[in-house]
Amino acid sequence: MMVMANFPIFINLQNRPCLVVGGGNIASRKIQPLLNAGARVTVIAPKINAALNERVRDKQITYLEQPYTQISMAEMYLVIAATDDSELNALIAQHARSQQILVNVVDNPGAGSFIMPSVIDRSPVMIAVSTGGASPILARLLRARLETLIPANYGKLANLISKFRATVKKKFPEIKERRRFWEHILQGPVAEMLYGGQGQSAMKLLEKQLSEETPYLESCGEVYLVGGGPGDPDLLTFRALRLMQQADVVLYDRLIAPDIVELVRKEAERIYVGKKRDEHTLPQGEINQLLVDLAKQGKRVLRLKGGDPFIFGRGGEEIDLLAENNIPFQIVPGITAASGCASYAGIPLTHRDYAQSCLFVTGHLKDGKMSLNWPALVQPQQTLAVYMGTHGIDVLSKELIKHGLAEITPAAIVQQGTTNGQRVYTSTVKGLPNISTQHGIKSPSMIIIGEVVSLHEKLAWFVSA
Ligand code: SAH
Repeated sequence: MMVMANFPIFINLQNRPCLVVGGGNIASRKIQPLLNAGARVTVIAPKINAALNERVRDKQITYLEQPYTQISMAEMYLVIAATDDSELNALIAQHARSQQILVNVVDNPGAGSFIMPSVIDRSPVMIAVSTGGASPILARLLRARLETLIPANYGKLANLISKFRATVKKKFPEIKERRRFWEHILQGPVAEMLYGGQGQSAMKLLEKQLSEETPYLESCGEVYLVGGGPGDPDLLTFRALRLMQQADVVLYDRLIAPDIVELVRKEAERIYVGKKRDEHTLPQGEINQLLVDLAKQGKRVLRLKGGDPFIFGRGGEEIDLLAENNIPFQIVPGITAASGCASYAGIPLTHRDYAQSCLFVTGHLKDGKMSLNWPALVQPQQTLAVYMGTHGIDVLSKELIKHGLAEITPAAIVQQGTTNGQRVYTSTVKGLPNISTQHGIKSPSMIIIGEVVSLHEKLAWFVSA
């Protein structure tokens, strides 16, 4: 049998006296988790840093201002040797061990009797990662991966279970039934509501499911309206990715890059709902209805939208019908094209010297016209981010100039921003139609207008393939 390097346990430190020797940054870092766990911490050191001084002042720790000498540790629950002198640390460890007190040595895990793991804290849920002292960096990297997978509000699930444990036990005396019930709850809309900060609704839904006859068999589906960002899959949020991994069916449109669709759970059904200017594959009304119908079949439906669902994304209309039908939903914001394109093109949307405001507008043409509040658009010290503007770029350029924007105002077109196909073309407001024809600009493209565009030359950093 493999020998376990260390035996993992979780210790209750509430009100337990603990000793930390050392007063520098390392000691300071070790003290924090001890205090989080409710320990009574004593620090021994000839001097302590500012952060620890503050804790002494706030009476969070007891400070013995002295060099370490052999002392009785009998009343200590555990000891941490955290000085910058490794010989001294080894000596402290030896003293502690001879008194049967648990000891951790910061610079030499092998010399102590316990090590401190890397922790993913979703209190009361706690995950501790250890490499047996072999590589703290490896533990930290693994921790970072787990952090992205486990929702920040995961601990709230545990609290919810404790609250309802007795009621559920009464309702399902059979352990097998009970387990099935909880599995259903922990992976369904109740859990999702908790993650999304809708604690009250989660409780209500759980109560409702408990009151129904065969609750988990006829459960209702839910809809996630998710912003997929401007194109680069790395710009997805943790939550977007997690929901993409658990959806039963995904509805996506043209703006969603194939790389992003790839990240959806393999078994999930994928429905392309198109949407190109003037040739809607599915009319909006039908998309709205489809979301409702699929959710009513009990499915977890993910509606994946380009950028942010609430910025020129008709997200409001889609959830309107869901709300009317009492279907649980949540909305996950995404990085909108304006900010994605601006960042990847090195064009700050605001800047102390050039722009104190930024307007997001749609340049969508209706009967050959753009119905925009032109006087508001031509204000000084303002950046314009124009969505869906390439088709009407002539009108846009003419109207802005007509309403007083200087012809020479810098302007840029960012085509397929944040992707490997990104192209940035700069000109002036007057020159926009020209560069558009010259480079055969294709959708999706973002037009950015304002003095900030002049910074592109200096700040551009992203090189596309
Ligand atoms: N909800 C989306 C916008 C949908 S409107 C968002 O928040 O980003 C569609 C318009 O967004 C396109 O016509 C284009 O102007 C812009 N757009 C979307 N993705 C883009 C990209 N990768 N590069 C440039 N423009 C983009």
